[in-house]
Amino acid sequence: MNSPQNDVIVCKFGGTSLADAAQIRKVAAIVRSDARRRFVVVSAPGKRHASDQKITDLLLTCWHLAGQKLDPGEPLRLICERYEEIARELNVPPVAAPLAHVEAELSKLAAGDADTLATRDWMAARGESFMARLLADFLEADCVGAGECIRFDGEGLLDAVSYENLAARMSRPGLYVIPGFYGRDPAGRIKTFPRGGSDITGAVVARAVGAALYENWTDVSGLLMADPRVIANPRPIEEVTYRELRELAYSGASVLHDETIFPAAEAGIPIQIKNTNSPGAPGTRIVAQRAPGEHAVVGIAGRTGFSIITVEKANMNRQIGFGRRMLEVFESHNVSFEHVPSGIDSLSIVASDEQLGGKTAAVVRDLERVLEPDRIETEGDLALIATVGEGMAYRVGVAGRVFEALREAGVNVRMISQGASEISIITGVAAPDYERAVRAIYHAFVT
Ligand code: ASP
Repeated sequence: MNSPQNDVIVCKFGGTSLADAAQIRKVAAIVRSDARRRFVVVSAPGKRHASDQKITDLLLTCWHLAGQKLDPGEPLRLICERYEEIARELNVPPVAAPLAHVEAELSKLAAGDADTLATRDWMAARGESFMARLLADFLEADCVGAGECIRFDGEGLLDAVSYENLAARMSRPGLYVIPGFYGRDPAGRIKTFPRGGSDITGAVVARAVGAALYENWTDVSGLLMADPRVIANPRPIEEVTYRELRELAYSGASVLHDETIFPAAEAGIPIQIKNTNSPGAPGTRIVAQRAPGEHAVVGIAGRTGFSIITVEKANMNRQIGFGRRMLEVFESHNVSFEHVPSGIDSLSIVASDEQLGGKTAAVVRDLERVLEPDRIETEGDLALIATVGEGMAYRVGVAGRVFEALREAGVNVRMISQGASEISIITGVAAPDYERAVRAIYHAFVT
């Protein structure tokens, strides 16, 4: 890994920021406005409007069609048109030859030729690869091959050699464009991160070059304190810690890809979420630590679709191994759980309906057999709401405000969980009360 390169910035631009020539011009203006922005990571062109298609989705459609010996001509034409239009309007060389290569590889796939390059990941990664080429031409920058630098190990995880490769490849002064989303596996095949994975590439590049800042440019001005579908005009979050963001993301808030945080957090590099369409807006800064300022609570996130299974048995508290046996039943059904609130003679497990996937009755049967409880109760249609903020640990009364607000709103609290790290308070409420509960908690902290 490199030692910090006197405050360079890695900026990653998402699909909507690169959807057409007009958007790409905004990207160029942003990059050129600050000489520290020397490393530019790109997604594939995304949607230009709500009913548009992302290039990555079109590429995957082509791959599915060819794999079934169907004609991928139509989606391929849409892909070609998009890149051609961008290249024409920006006055840079077209990507016709690489697209012809894709067509040839798809024909091999359709003909059942095992020698084709066109695996799912190779296809999916073409969008970023072509976009990086176009933008590098437009910015007169050096285009870095992600396949040459970013490596995965045998388990499919990022190989740390990627950091050295990237640092060595980009050690000279100048401007670099790097395609997001992919690298190579040990066998030399192109492999992608999960969907939305250009965010991860951005964080990896930031760590590799020892950047002072990782800017993630998208189409919103950062994170909001609550879901705007529930709260009208929620307050933006100016600063949030990596841990708080993990908690918010896990509980339902979505902006960055989940795994983005790790490479940046490990190297202590702050992440700034910015809006390409409104570059003057401050956005949200994600940092290792924030001053315990005025905001004890940074955000409220939540989801519906949980169930709670409660087991009661007299003298449970004296039985060693009761909890383990209960969890083993869940494990044997391959169900991962969210929370385990407990009472003296009762133990509950909260799991998402997605995890339970219709297995609730079978789980309950096994719990009856293994634990011989006095009573088992299952309640579905639960929502979990996380009220998140690191400051909570040092402040009296945050929980009090949450529950007072819920009481005033007439919401019955079905479950409470506060982790020992005191970074969030989780409340479980009946799903129909979900929105009312979020509004009540939000207004208890934002006036
Ligand atoms: N283009 C890829 C996707 O749509 C990766 C990314 O944009 O981050 O998932």
